[in-house]
Amino acid sequence: MARKNPNIVVTGTPGVGKTTHCELLARNLGFKHLSVNQIVKDEEFHEGRDDETGSWIVDEDKLLDYIEALSISSTGGYILDWHACDLFPERWIDLVVVLRCDSTTLYDRLTARGYKGKKLEENMDSEIMQVLLEEARESYAEEVVVELRSDGVEDVERNCERVEGWVEMWRKDREGGGKEEGQ
Ligand code: ADP
Repeated sequence: MARKNPNIVVTGTPGVGKTTHCELLARNLGFKHLSVNQIVKDEEFHEGRDDETGSWIVDEDKLLDYIEALSISSTGGYILDWHACDLFPERWIDLVVVLRCDSTTLYDRLTARGYKGKKLEENMDSEIMQVLLEEARESYAEEVVVELRSDGVEDVERNCERVEGWVEMWRKDREGGGKEEGQ
């Protein structure tokens, strides 16, 4: 069944502003915000935490089965919020937004959140090395991936407007028969 709404992944290093963007987008678009980290915790799709980084060791099969059971691919209208994107099947996803942030700003946000030591260092390195952007580019077609800055509050509104405009176009393309399904 062809979905009536697109599914969007919002990804990036912790602290770049995924939650902030997803909450606003979900509200403005009437989409469902899936905080994947929250699902992993609530449903216990993990084998505990990594001793050094404190990150969950995720059971990806269980996680994907859970998301698939929401009929994400046929209904659409989901925003997936996670610091990884390569595990989601391409056929589920219509747009991947990779949020990026200036390192000084990210440092301040992560230390304010209590990150320190190896966890802080790893996340800072990940942003500087643009790990999530590379992961998105390797996992999805070029035209599906968009990189957006999330340095200041004004960026959030601008980015969300841009994504909302994209959703409108996506719907129009399908309504008007401009683009065949699957292209
Ligand atoms: P993530 O979900 O990627 O970990 P959050 O949305 O939780 O990031 O944001 C982390 C912190 O940074 C929050 O305090 C949030 O208010 C702030 N923040 C996020 N994006 C921006 C932005 N573009 N401008 C200013 N503050 C931001």
